[in-house]
Amino acid sequence: MSFNISPIRVEGEGPLSANLVLIGEAPGGEEEKEGRPFVGLSGNKLEAVLRRNGFERAEVRLENLSPYRPKGNKFELLLGTTELATSVKELYDRLRNINPTVICTLGNWPTWFLTGKGKVQKKRNMISGIMNWRGSILRANVEGLDHIKVIPTIHPAAILRDPVLYPTFDQDIKRVKAETEFRELRLPERQFVIAPKGAEMEQWTNELLRAKKLAVDIENVKDTSHLLCVGFASSSTLGVCFEYDEHDPLLRDCLFRLLSSSIPKVFHFGTHDTEILRLNGYEVNNYAWDTLLSQHVMWPELPRSLAYLTSVHTREPYYKDEVKEDDSDTKAWSAVWAAKREKRSKLYTYNCKDTCCTHEISDIHEREIAEGPAAWKRFFEFEMSMLEPFHAIMQTGMLVDEIRMQEIKRAVEGKLAEQQVALNSLLGVPGACAQRPCRCGKCINVNSSKQISAILYDALGLPKRTKRGDDGESKVTTEEHALVSLIAICKEKVDSLVRPPTIAEWKKKLLVVKLIILIRGGRKMKSSYLDIRISDDKRLRSKYRVGGAETGRSSAEKYVDGTGANGQTFPRGGVEITEAA
Ligand code: URA
Repeated sequence: MSFNISPIRVEGEGPLSANLVLIGEAPGGEEEKEGRPFVGLSGNKLEAVLRRNGFERAEVRLENLSPYRPKGNKFELLLGTTELATSVKELYDRLRNINPTVICTLGNWPTWFLTGKGKVQKKRNMISGIMNWRGSILRANVEGLDHIKVIPTIHPAAILRDPVLYPTFDQDIKRVKAETEFRELRLPERQFVIAPKGAEMEQWTNELLRAKKLAVDIENVKDTSHLLCVGFASSSTLGVCFEYDEHDPLLRDCLFRLLSSSIPKVFHFGTHDTEILRLNGYEVNNYAWDTLLSQHVMWPELPRSLAYLTSVHTREPYYKDEVKEDDSDTKAWSAVWAAKREKRSKLYTYNCKDTCCTHEISDIHEREIAEGPAAWKRFFEFEMSMLEPFHAIMQTGMLVDEIRMQEIKRAVEGKLAEQQVALNSLLGVPGACAQRPCRCGKCINVNSSKQISAILYDALGLPKRTKRGDDGESKVTTEEHALVSLIAICKEKVDSLVRPPTIAEWKKKLLVVKLIILIRGGRKMKSSYLDIRISDDKRLRSKYRVGGAETGRSSAEKYVDGTGANGQTFPRGGVEITEAA
């Protein structure tokens, strides 16, 4: 037995005829003490949520990938060990005997071992993706188990660390309960019409024009207004995706008829889609519902991506990685990617899924808002009514004084160079180039947390600041809040000490931390507000998200075509411009 693994074995618990098996990673300290799985804090949480949803602990089977506790509860230490290989094999055998209707995997690793879903981050020997895959109804990809449904959810320990995840966990367990009633997958059956042409395009347009409501979604090339396709769903079961070609008059006519029709349109974050459509010459008539807004109004503290809403309100398994590998619930595709025509058909299917799911979600949201508190309806109507003025603001933008902007840029660059020289020499690298990008390879890189951590905590001996990582582990950090607290510590020392040499030492530390903050701020300002593309008409535009923040405050980012910047957070402090600048 490796020294990283405890020799004490904690077996699974619960009937070997259970309809539901829940699988965690490995026992923790409490489990080891009592010799039973899931009896510590996360076990208590799990038990409570199971009970809330109609399961008694005694009726389900609780298992772990490993019956042995890894050192420091770090599951990653078990990877590649013969102990883990043997225990996972034994677990698969037990599952074949139990033959449950549903397996609920708790967290990333159990999901990976039962379904192969998730993304291995090789460098860190970690896996991620549970927030994407949770709630999906999948099949196990293990021999002899592939007829069993697997529903991944978040590990209860993660709920303890981040209680905001609780409602999602509860929702998943509710789904698990419902799924134990039958063995089939019951995946949604949807018809997708991909890139119809000519008479077929005409026929599908006429079919869509008979709909009571149309869900609409576009895909465009990232940071451009270049359209790739426009999709429509007339119900949750019929999606039609039109391949975009600006030179096809028939296509333009079909899109025009559909978008200008009086049929109510539903979007998910349609601010982006309607603006791109407008830039291509299509005005959307009767933009009646946005599922991003209805989610925000009803559940402001919960996620609101289409992927999340799909996982909660539909039986469609997670599909956002079907086109690209990077899991993004994106509104745009890179130009390099879009040039690969063979990938396009996957994009069109994806687009159909988006529209059908948006349609399905909007039906549920419409009902929930109608049946919910009157304030929901009022607030939703208010947010919808804000879309038009926001579009007007977005389209107007701000006229940029380009000469002034260049002067500001030169002034900021000059200041940054001065600060970099000061930091380099304070830390014993005088004569370093202080250029951006650095040409000498010696300049202190304020954005390298490794380098800054070594300077602050090792070389200068400042007290280590930590924060909790995604895996719940405490990690040394050099983020802004950490630096601000170091400034307070340095100032306190400077004010309270009496010996001039020690005061000088702390003054130097204070200056180093201040310079790091200043250089980071200057660089951020440059990349976010000065090194940006401005529209051809010399205006700086932003894309606004009504109800962008939990509180209802709007948020902004660069404009739909990749120009501009977040105009809401434009720095208001002055920049000193000297003659030289
Ligand atoms: N966490 C797990 O993954 N398993 C247990 O048994 C207890 C906590």
